[in-house]
Amino acid sequence: MSSSTPRIAIVGAGPGGLLLARYLQIHSIPCAVYERESSRHVRSQGGSLDLHVESGQRALKDVGLFDQFKKLARTEGEQLKIIDKTGALLFDSPPGGGGGRPEIDRTELRDMLLDSLEPDTVKWDHFVSATPIPSSSGYTLTFANRPCATVDILVGADGAWSHIRPLLTSVRPLYSSITFIELSISNIKRHPHLISLIGNGMAFIMSEGKGIIPQRNSSGTVKVYVGLQVPENWLEQNPLPSNASAAKDFVAGLFPGWNTELLELIHAADNEPIVGRKIYALPPDLTWSTDSKGIALLGDAAHVMSPFAGQGVNLALLDASEIGAALVEALAPKTRKSEPPLSLQETLAEVDKGFRNYELAMWKRAQKNGRKSAASLDFMFADDSPAGIVKFFNSFGPPPPPPPMLPPLILDSGDSKGFGQGNSEYI
Ligand SMILES: Cc1cc2nc3c(=O)[nH]c(=O)nc-3n(C[C@H](O)[C@H](O)[C@H](O)COP(=O)(O)OP(=O)(O)OC[C@H]3O[C@@H](n4cnc5c(N)ncnc54)[C@H](O)[C@@H]3O)c2cc1C
Repeated sequence: MSSSTPRIAIVGAGPGGLLLARYLQIHSIPCAVYERESSRHVRSQGGSLDLHVESGQRALKDVGLFDQFKKLARTEGEQLKIIDKTGALLFDSPPGGGGGRPEIDRTELRDMLLDSLEPDTVKWDHFVSATPIPSSSGYTLTFANRPCATVDILVGADGAWSHIRPLLTSVRPLYSSITFIELSISNIKRHPHLISLIGNGMAFIMSEGKGIIPQRNSSGTVKVYVGLQVPENWLEQNPLPSNASAAKDFVAGLFPGWNTELLELIHAADNEPIVGRKIYALPPDLTWSTDSKGIALLGDAAHVMSPFAGQGVNLALLDASEIGAALVEALAPKTRKSEPPLSLQETLAEVDKGFRNYELAMWKRAQKNGRKSAASLDFMFADDSPAGIVKFFNSFGPPPPPPPMLPPLILDSGDSKGFGQGNSEYI
């Protein structure tokens, strides 16, 4: 490595950080990814993500992983149903997909990205325990129980509670008003009536400003998100019982008067995990200015937003691809035409030009999508829900007529026979 080759650290091995590492490696630019988790297997990565043509899918094409993604993607997972508390089906999209936004499990996406990297790129068990200290020799990263590392270029891909972001702005995410309780049903085939209820993709079962949102994942798993509009300290004031069956009774008890068939989504859940998650968001119009050289943020570290517009991972992947392109432009030998070679300081100035251009594009889309997410949250959890969600999806035009084998569009509210006469042909 020449003295003008900068040392690059990416903090966070989420989808954004990993895609950036892949981008750099296919252009022969070395980098290290520092990740707080101790291995790829330490934690279930959560639910399914739909990748959009213009962002997530484009980024995967940029790093040569699109064909692999297509093999893992579930187009049928695009199906969406909207149901109210009585069980009435108010909206249904075709079960076969075709909307151009196929789903992939988060674990499969992460594994695909990890497997595409050179061995030892990810430094597991490296928790950046404090905001790095900038100095004339670069940024010094401090890890819990590990030696420090000093680097020239630092990319914060460390999610909502980024330890890199304070180098650029003191603004922190704010509570969005929504708390999720997340459950999981690991073998949905044992519950054919729930398969029929959910369909092949996701159902928004919403009323009275709260909801139950089941989502099909691969391998017969369903993630169930219970969404509540509650104060930020609600989970502390209402801790989930440690006994699983008591916890499920407690969660189901939050929906008095709802069709008991719907509450089966809670009672049928596995005993673990049953976890609470508060949803936070940065202000959509957040920007910053900096004199620091060689630093950038991507994904949730730059613009965490509520998940109700389904944009977060798509933006993270696109950000990563654009940062990768900026670094390649500044660093890759084949694109560096000047003679004699640039000094490290000159190289970093080139990198910085690319980073500042990236930020302009990133802020623009973060603002647009952050506002969209906030607006979606408002109508999804409005007192008259699901009226706003139905109106929103109907605004794209009527869904094509269902094929003849589909169950009737309106379930008989309150009548248990309404479920389970379903579309299991499509599973
Ligand atoms: C319930 C829920 C559902 C969602 N559904 C969707 C959806 O359907 N579609 C969609 O597009 N988006 C969705 N999102 C948003 C999406 O998950 C995020 O936008 C996306 O994961 C952001 O990717 P990232 O790489 O920026 O950060 P992350 O995925 O948050 O990854 C950050 C990584 O950094 C590591 N890290 C954190 N701090 C440190 C530290 N100090 N030191 C070292 N490592 C650290 C973490 O362990 C993690 O591996 C959802 C989010 C939630 C909460």
